[in-house]
Amino acid sequence: MPLRDYEFVQRSLKAGRIEKFSLKGLTRAIDCTTTGRSLCKGYCCHWSPTLYPQYHQGEMARLSPEIRCLVANDGRLGTGGCDLRDLCLAGRIPDPERAVDCVLFPLGFNSAGRLILKRWVYRWCPRCNEGEPAYISMEPNLVLLFGQAIYDDLRRRVEAAVREVTNPSNLEGSSILESFTDPK
Ligand code: SF4
Ligand code: SF4
Repeated sequence: MPLRDYEFVQRSLKAGRIEKFSLKGLTRAIDCTTTGRSLCKGYCCHWSPTLYPQYHQGEMARLSPEIRCLVANDGRLGTGGCDLRDLCLAGRIPDPERAVDCVLFPLGFNSAGRLILKRWVYRWCPRCNEGEPAYISMEPNLVLLFGQAIYDDLRRRVEAAVREVTNPSNLEGSSILESFTDPK
């Protein structure tokens, strides 16, 4: 279970920035917007047991009684699919009550604290390769979790890295890209 997402979000908030990111992941097109999700109907939320998110214990206290009674004591959202899926897809879980894992997905942190696009997405997400690059399409979610200033800093660094990698006079471009492209 990716409990580390919550912990890395807290760490980033404390540091005032997202320290590390995968350029390859954040520049991959993905339409996980409200429109994209209505097209995929929350495919990832019931497709794979390995993807089920979970509330971190640090998040449980802020849940309303209506949502809290649907969540197991360890924060899991279900054992055979997410129990909140119908409510969630109907837009009936207010953003502040959504799990950090859910708001961040299909992005997430790897064990080294690098913000990546989850590996599952490359292979299975039906909205992958559609729409804007992840760092743009996921802006509302990232702003919700990290605030505008941290998001703006991330975006500036991603775009600077893209410029550096695509600069034809930069013969080291491929090695620069490598340094940002650890999707694991
Ligand atoms: S990650 Fe892909 S499958 Fe999951 S909600 Fe987003 S668009 Fe749908
Ligand atoms: S709460 Fe929503 S986003 Fe999270 S797993 Fe359930 S249906 Fe998916």
